[in-house]
Amino acid sequence: MDIPRIVELPATLASQIAAGEVIERPAAVVKELLDNSIDAGAAHVTVAVTDGGHKRISVSDDGHGIHPSDIELALRRHSTSKLNMQSDLDCITSLGFRGEALASIAAVSRFLLVTRTGGSDSAWSLSFDPVSGNTAVNPAARSRGTTVEAADIFQATPARRKFLRSRTTEFLHITEVVKRVACSRFNITFTLTHDNKPVLRYRACRDDMIERVADVFGRSFADRSIPVNYEAQGMRLWGWLGGSDLSRSQSDRQFCFVNGRVVRDKKIFHAVRSAFDDSLPTGRYPAYLLHLDMDPSVTDINVHPTKSEIRFRDNRGVHDFIHISLREALETAGSLDLGVTGDVPGKRSESAPAYQDQGSRLQVREAGMFYRNLVSREQQDDLTAQHAGLGVPLNAIPGRVVITQRDHDYVLLNYRAATEYVLRYRLKRDYMNESVRRRPLLVPVHIEAGDSEAELVEKYSELLETIGLSLRVVSAGVISVKAIPALLEEADVRTLLRLVLAELPLVGEDTDPGEKLLAVMAQATDTGAERASGSGVQGLLDDLDGTDLDTAQRHHKGIWRTLTVEELSKLIDD
Ligand code: ADP
Ligand code: MG
Repeated sequence: MDIPRIVELPATLASQIAAGEVIERPAAVVKELLDNSIDAGAAHVTVAVTDGGHKRISVSDDGHGIHPSDIELALRRHSTSKLNMQSDLDCITSLGFRGEALASIAAVSRFLLVTRTGGSDSAWSLSFDPVSGNTAVNPAARSRGTTVEAADIFQATPARRKFLRSRTTEFLHITEVVKRVACSRFNITFTLTHDNKPVLRYRACRDDMIERVADVFGRSFADRSIPVNYEAQGMRLWGWLGGSDLSRSQSDRQFCFVNGRVVRDKKIFHAVRSAFDDSLPTGRYPAYLLHLDMDPSVTDINVHPTKSEIRFRDNRGVHDFIHISLREALETAGSLDLGVTGDVPGKRSESAPAYQDQGSRLQVREAGMFYRNLVSREQQDDLTAQHAGLGVPLNAIPGRVVITQRDHDYVLLNYRAATEYVLRYRLKRDYMNESVRRRPLLVPVHIEAGDSEAELVEKYSELLETIGLSLRVVSAGVISVKAIPALLEEADVRTLLRLVLAELPLVGEDTDPGEKLLAVMAQATDTGAERASGSGVQGLLDDLDGTDLDTAQRHHKGIWRTLTVEELSKLIDD
């Protein structure tokens, strides 16, 4: 794999970065190191803390490591592998970009970095002593990945040491950081130990994101919060929102993320709170875990030293989108909360004017909930009347099975298979209509390839363009990926390309090679399916209705199956 190389930022670019001292306490060290591990593509990250961080902090990952020739550069201020050009600064997709964190950590601690790339046969260590200013690089041993250790933090800077709080307090801050970061990346396993004792362990989740929500927010939040999934105007808001019954006396469970980055942004806090109208008394704070995803080029995170605030090109639009979506989520959940209001969900459509009154032109799509509450017979009938297709969702095992009711039968739907089907269908449809939308990659991805693969890429470049894939052979054995089909934007580009390269030699034999290639590419979107899980049930049912499948059928192999009440009872009787 390609290891991104570190370069020193040109002075003009460095001067445009909102520089600042990032290390104000041990938790800030942990935050910066976690960011680096995530940027390095790690699957497992372990944070080991000794003495509340006063004595030692170490973060180890199994990411791509640092190229042996760049190790010393990593410690230099404004040296980064993540930003090269002015245009990158306008559209930051990595967590880091200033190339300052390691330098700042090294300046206030005894610093040790051990790293090994996948391709190299040995690891290297770099140590730095802030008192003597000595740097040493030596061969070392470890498997692929990087460990950064900061010991005796602030020992050499007595003025700062004074501000270190008790071990317990500092450790509490570290725990908070790990929890927030863990909620930004469900697919990474995080471990936190204190004085060699395990404190937190979050296993990577695929279909069961709610398990991490339960680990971090508690089981009762996981069971009672409202799954959120809305999309409008290129923005997506997803996650879990606690209703007023889950509100707290502190604002400590307001987790928000923009494009996977932990942010603490007043505009967002305000937008979320505003959705509650007056239903939260002063002094009560909502609890939530919300991800806002959008095109990074319309955001600016280069505004605050710790990158925790964010600017949006359209602040108002973002505010309204959050406000309206969450209001709708709360209203819908409230109206489904049977026995409390007695309302029927059918009201939802009547409530639409309420948010149109907001004067916003946003079209919010209610994208499905897990209906946990048992719905009464009349209400089900009421609901059924409004839904064609596969019926009304009753419950779901996140990411796996959706249970719906249709007339008097029950339908079991395979979530993943259905999601994949929708994707394959859309890819094929767009291809047939010659309307495949391309998503240009802001920073082209380079992939190593053999000569024969490069030849095939050149030979079929036109065909590849028609399926939304822009590839160039940039030098011997290196292919650059400039764009991928927009529908596959969640896919891992390297996996995508590997799949395509494996298929290219067979292209001559296919009657419709474009279609075949798209089907192959759809397999690369595992993460897409994962993202969509945990929410979006109604959206998925609607999407399935929009495909060529006849959802009126009772069964569709591998995707859904209808069971009558008799068949269900028989399962128990047998
Ligand atoms: P930034 O993250 O802003 O680039 P840092 O000072 O945090 O700056 O890191 C400098 C560089 O060191 C990074 O750009 C990256 O190339 C490399 N690096 C740091 N930590 C890791 C890690 N855990 N794995 C791989 N590379 C790393
Ligand atoms: Mg960094």
